[in-house]
Amino acid sequence: MDVDDERTEGEDCPRCGGWQDWETCWNCGGEGGRDLYEESPIEYPPGAWRTCDNCKGEGGYLVCYACARGESTGAGRLDSSTGSE
Ligand SMILES: [Zn+2]
Ligand SMILES: [Zn+2]
Repeated sequence: MDVDDERTEGEDCPRCGGWQDWETCWNCGGEGGRDLYEESPIEYPPGAWRTCDNCKGEGGYLVCYACARGESTGAGRLDSSTGSE
């Protein structure tokens, strides 16, 4: 594990400088991974754990809703459905 285990909620968005919210990972439900033994005891030994790929075991991630919606002024063009004026 990395040394920097500090989870700073509400960190400024690196792209637009706006506020970021902590979003629980949809993939693991905030668990940070899956208990493989619980899912398939015949395949995995007790305690087998698979770290969630989506959140890298964090159980969630910081999301800037401005950038997520493409409303930020700058590089954030995630949703470019409106191209012309
Ligand atoms: Zn942002
Ligand atoms: Zn996850």
